[in-house]
Order: sequence, then structure tokens, then C-alpha cells
Amino acid sequence: MMADMEADDGDSPATSEETNTSRSSSNLVHPWPYLQNMFSFVEKRGESYIMQCKLCVPKKSNISAYKNSTSNLRKHVEVSHVSRAFPGLN
Ligand SMILES: [Zn+2]
Repeated sequence: MMADMEADDGDSPATSEETNTSRSSSNLVHPWPYLQNMFSFVEKRGESYIMQCKLCVPKKSNISAYKNSTSNLRKHVEVSHVSRAFPGLN
């Protein structure tokens, strides 16, 4: 009589990854996690990602970046912000 400590909902399929990411809206996975300090992922549109620049806040500036290419994001930072302040992008 010592095996029943973790009796939970029994027959739901085990999805162990769901538990720790419950506060952001589920299936939006940031395409470039290393850039998420600067850009938040808004949506995927066709072959592009719509990203929002956090450096522009409170101004809203959405940048669309072709998937697998961060060059539009990089260009935005270079043009709109001081690029050398963010050496990680170069
Ligand atoms: Zn910006």
C-alpha cells in the first residue's frame, strides 16, 4: 500500500513539456530564441515571420523577416538603432 502517491488523471497521454510553458500563448515558438530579447514573435505569415522590435517600444514596429533569415531584423537594428550597442547581432 505504498505505490499510489501520484494518482492523477490516469489515461491522458503524457505531455511532459506542457507544464512549464503555460503562461505564454501555447504554440507560438520563437523562430530565433537568441533574439527574443530584442524581437518578440508576432506571427507566421506565409514564408515569413512577423516580429516586433522591443527596442522600438513603446512605438510599435513590426518587421517581417523571411524564414531562416534574420537579415531584415539585423538591418532594422542597424538603421533604427545604434548597431554597435548590440554586438551580438553582428
Ligand atoms: Zn526597433
